Amino acid sequence: MVKPFVPELVYIEPRALEYPLGRELKEKFEGMGIEIRETTSHNQVRNLPGENDFQKYRMAKSTLVVGVRKTLKFDTSKPSAEYAIPFATGCMGHCHYCYLQTTMGSKPYIRTYVNVEEIFDAAEQYMKERAPEETRFEASCTSDIVGVDHLTHTLKRAIEYFGESEHGRLRFVTKFAHVDHLLDAKHNGRTRFRFSMNADYVIKYLEPGTSRLDDRIEAAAKVAKAGYPLGFIIAPIYLYDDWKEGYRILFEKLQDKLPDYATKDLTFELIQHRFTKPAKRVIQKNYPMSKLEMDEEKRKYKWGRYGIGKYVYQKDEQQEMKDTLGGYIEQYFPEASLEYFT
Ligand code: SF4
Repeated sequence: MVKPFVPELVYIEPRALEYPLGRELKEKFEGMGIEIRETTSHNQVRNLPGENDFQKYRMAKSTLVVGVRKTLKFDTSKPSAEYAIPFATGCMGHCHYCYLQTTMGSKPYIRTYVNVEEIFDAAEQYMKERAPEETRFEASCTSDIVGVDHLTHTLKRAIEYFGESEHGRLRFVTKFAHVDHLLDAKHNGRTRFRFSMNADYVIKYLEPGTSRLDDRIEAAAKVAKAGYPLGFIIAPIYLYDDWKEGYRILFEKLQDKLPDYATKDLTFELIQHRFTKPAKRVIQKNYPMSKLEMDEEKRKYKWGRYGIGKYVYQKDEQQEMKDTLGGYIEQYFPEASLEYFT
């Protein structure tokens, strides 16, 4: 079992100590005997220990920065929500294909923001603009928020905040099974709790540092029992030798462990593996021994924004994925809905 994340090193912005959560976290990490350093800005953490880029990258992924979120303009977050709500950035996981490797570039450390009330106030404005229509907020666009939440409880507060709201809904996705503190949150059915699931092969070889398949399934069952609307993102769908059987076993296990009532309002999102040329270079640098196959010749090129296209699977392969996984959804969870395949 992957243990809940404990940072090796903590940085705190002086301004973060003006907020109760900032002070609380400082005290908590002091009590845990973790080295605490000061940083003027969460955007500029310098002098991370490590002799080379490889070591520095690994150290950064074990470093937590406690800061104040200045930008309270939310990004949009299609297709799963209207807005991304920023409680944290970065992740302690080591998924080889993770897009954070390119989007976070030289700042792979994990940041948690303590001005939670201000973030809620900004969310309130977005909700007002769209009311009476509902506004969905996605809390895991730039992090795996559950992975750090046992330390901060920010997500728990957010779940309860949206539980009380009239027009807002919260959603997030995780690869971590450390959900116990979230089970008694008063969610009022307004948060969709999603787990990122995959064939055991993918989790085993391409997702080090995250919870293993059986632990994720067990956590999903607990979350379902706590009454949360549940969802699964199967991503990245990855074609390896025995992929059809691997994904079938996944669905069989899910059906076996989930209580019946949790399968009624269940959602699936399917996302095939893709990569860009710059991402491939970063992945090969960070995870030189990875089994992740990224052969441009075998893929289909899809033009993208800013001239950076991505490599997806060939059309017939995409169709086969859609048919196979779509078929499993119908077979094992006939009442669930497939939100999209991309
Ligand atoms: S758990 Fe998610 S955010 Fe974290 S490394 Fe893996 S893919 Fe990236």
